[in-house]
Amino acid sequence: MTEPLDVALIGGGVMSATLGTLLSQLEPTWKIAIFERLGGVARESSDPWNNAGTGHAGICELSYTPTQAADGTVDVSNAINIFEQFEKSRQFWASAVTEGLIDKPKEFINPVSHLSFVHGAKWVDYLRARHTGMAAHHFFADMAFSTDRATIGAWAPLLTESRGEVPIAATRMSSGTDVNFGEVSRKLLGWLGRQNRCGIASNHRVVDLAKTATGWSATIRDLATGQLRRNSARFVFVGAGGGSLHLLQKAGIPESKGLGGFPIGGQWLVCDNPAIVSKHEAKVYGQPLDAAPTMAVPHLDTRILDGKKTLLFGPFAAWTTKFLHKKGSAFDLPGSIKPHNLLTLLKIGATNLDLVKYLVQQGTQSMDDRMKVLHVFYPGAKKEDWKLIDAGIRVQAIKKTDGEAGIVHYGTEVITDQTRTISALLGASPGASVSVHIVLEVVKLCFPELIASAEGQRRLKDMIPTWDVDIKKPENAAFYQTHARRASEALQLV
Ligand SMILES: Cc1cc2nc3c(=O)[nH]c(=O)nc-3n(C[C@H](O)[C@H](O)[C@H](O)COP(=O)(O)OP(=O)(O)OC[C@H]3O[C@@H](n4cnc5c(N)ncnc54)[C@H](O)[C@@H]3O)c2cc1C
Repeated sequence: MTEPLDVALIGGGVMSATLGTLLSQLEPTWKIAIFERLGGVARESSDPWNNAGTGHAGICELSYTPTQAADGTVDVSNAINIFEQFEKSRQFWASAVTEGLIDKPKEFINPVSHLSFVHGAKWVDYLRARHTGMAAHHFFADMAFSTDRATIGAWAPLLTESRGEVPIAATRMSSGTDVNFGEVSRKLLGWLGRQNRCGIASNHRVVDLAKTATGWSATIRDLATGQLRRNSARFVFVGAGGGSLHLLQKAGIPESKGLGGFPIGGQWLVCDNPAIVSKHEAKVYGQPLDAAPTMAVPHLDTRILDGKKTLLFGPFAAWTTKFLHKKGSAFDLPGSIKPHNLLTLLKIGATNLDLVKYLVQQGTQSMDDRMKVLHVFYPGAKKEDWKLIDAGIRVQAIKKTDGEAGIVHYGTEVITDQTRTISALLGASPGASVSVHIVLEVVKLCFPELIASAEGQRRLKDMIPTWDVDIKKPENAAFYQTHARRASEALQLV
């Protein structure tokens, strides 16, 4: 597509797929194009082997509820927020299935129970308090808690096999999910590509962005022919994952000043032994180990990929200077350092020595070291059943805080310029699970006209029935339950 576009989406991952589908449904007359540098879509972070596929709903990840107050209570508000955000994704995917945009939900979402698992008296106490806080909310009313080995063993046999006498506890919700974010992205993009005024250009790398009077001009290299071309667009979404920071810097918007990126590679242990795989049917998240940053706390996951069940354990962190897994360059990190973010990056290095130490430790560990971590979850694990593979790369956003030392931002950061003609997504967590919530925020900010009319609101409500209702409130519990059940049925999760 060389004609002027309404919207150019850079990157063919789950974020662009979601925004493109949402916009095209709200405004079917718009010309929308997606530019993807690889030969196909969803092959970077959204590829199922490059992420854990957890439908993050705050159920099992202790990192969302890290603090126990002096009175023993655990603040669970963040978990409630994540749950609400993931619910929007479930509803959006469910309506896409119901409306015939995409099909065969089992190819991208499956029920897998979510467990939190801890060991040691202090953590048992914490998990009990967390459960009390969580189960009091209607989102988590079905959450079970146990310190009983037989019960925990029935939930996830590998956890209790050959385990010593240390106190353990677990919580479980059977409504958790395993999501193949690559597949749902491909399905959404498949639908988008079939729409009259939309196009997907693989093997097309956006190399520059320049502001124009009406929006942006993107310079794009056709990687098959080497030719450069220009496309203008009224709005640009930079959903280029690890490539986003580079493009934001090219765009030169004031909001990008001081921002940096810090890549952390990931690795999984994978087990395909059917005798072991068949015993585990859960995603088990544990307590933080050593100085691991929150997003690197390991978990033992059932994955359903290409219709086959497998077990993944990790992620282990790996040192890298690349920002992209498939086509990254060792110069990505050095190339991202500019006069305006140099100080922030240096301060990060000086004030995050634990993180630096952790990365060095992770980068130098052996298979035996990794097995020791696995034994925390599955004491009976044997080295010969597991192999190490590379996962994706997370580029953590680094930003200034009050002119003081910068912070490593483990969440997701949407940067939008003042003219609201460009938005970019940085960071990776909770990531793909909350893609619908993230792009909805972009729509609200940059395209308020699309949802100002009664017609726009009706279309959005068809896609996400609870988008304008605070389903966290107890008085909306029944409304939430009705729509959650409908979504589960459409997604064949019940
Ligand atoms: C180890 C790990 C585990 C994770 N686990 C989970 C999880 O369990 N649950 C969860 O919800 N999230 C998880 N995430 C996060 C999740 O994978 C990401 O948030 C999500 O996939 C990001 O999607 P995206 O569309 O922004 O980026 P991507 O899927 O990376 O897509 C970006 C695309 O942009 C393309 N691109 C880059 N530069 C250019 C350019 N200049 N021109 C054109 N195209 C370009 C890339 O080739 C790529 O295809 C995990 C991430 C990692 C690394």
